[in-house]
Amino acid sequence: MKNELKNLRAEILEAIEGVSDLSGLEDLRVKYLGRKGTLPNLLKGLKGLADDARKEAGAFANEVKLSVDEAFSALQIDLEAKSRAEAFAEAHIDITRPGITPDIGHLHLTTQAIEEIKTIFSRLGFVQVRHPEIDWDHYAFGALNFPEDHPARDDWETFFIDDAGKAAEGENGKIVLTPHTSNGQVREMERSELPIRMMNINKTYRRQVSARHLPMFHQFEGLLIDKDVSIADLLGTFDFFVKQFFGPERKTRLRPHHFRFTEPSFELDVSCDVCAGTGMRENGLKCKLCKVGWLELGGAGMVHPNVLRAGGIDPDVYSGFAFGWGVERTMMMKGGINIPDIRVMYQNDMRFLEQF
Ligand SMILES: [Zn+2]
Repeated sequence: MKNELKNLRAEILEAIEGVSDLSGLEDLRVKYLGRKGTLPNLLKGLKGLADDARKEAGAFANEVKLSVDEAFSALQIDLEAKSRAEAFAEAHIDITRPGITPDIGHLHLTTQAIEEIKTIFSRLGFVQVRHPEIDWDHYAFGALNFPEDHPARDDWETFFIDDAGKAAEGENGKIVLTPHTSNGQVREMERSELPIRMMNINKTYRRQVSARHLPMFHQFEGLLIDKDVSIADLLGTFDFFVKQFFGPERKTRLRPHHFRFTEPSFELDVSCDVCAGTGMRENGLKCKLCKVGWLELGGAGMVHPNVLRAGGIDPDVYSGFAFGWGVERTMMMKGGINIPDIRVMYQNDMRFLEQF
């Protein structure tokens, strides 16, 4: 038995010498030391020996097993170090290989337009503020000179906040999702010191859904209050914005209109880009985009004395102008973008969004 063990030890140690990789070493381990390997098989023969002989052979068998285990472990450590070194050498970075460009998103086109609008008005000293999107009827209508029975205060026009089925109400009236950014006017008068140059950009809400109307859209509201402010200042501001945003060749005009919170009130028009303000195409047909040479941008006017009073400002000393335009509409007018259904703006369709 002892001789057999000696021979086996010599055989194993010799076999190990010839191993050059980890899988070869593992094969040998299974062959000699595994559950059905040569060494365990040989040790089964210990049972058949007399007591003394078994003790001696058992002790020797342990010695053999220890020395073989040691040889296996030592070689395993060497081979692992070698394989790590090889992997490291292979993994050097080739900086001349073309890279993989990750998909990088960009701002939504509405956000892009808001950033641009904000920047243009900031050059004229308009400071961006943010007044609530959910506000009291007082700020959305009452303080803006809307009579109690004005249709805009009807729940067919405006979203009201319910409290258990009943319109929530407080000392400033019902709570509404603001249908325009003009709720910021009196809030700004109450909040800040004169003179005021405010740019309030926010989401607004109306009960309307169609190819041309969204229930949620964005508005930007300018408010300027100071001494000796005239319509000429409004027109100059409007003209500056249009030339910066739409291009220096675009013209502007005011048309008389009626709003509750400005007096006098105007619609502001921008000359059409597609037909250069003529209303006609080169082929002699009417321009499809504008029909008349002008595109309507939005409303504006001189702040109504009642609104100034509601904001605690003396209309005999101060005057001002205000304007509020839809961001989506203004953006689509730029470069004559004609989207057949405006709802596509918020459907998160990548094929649409990636174009901007
Ligand atoms: Zn046109």
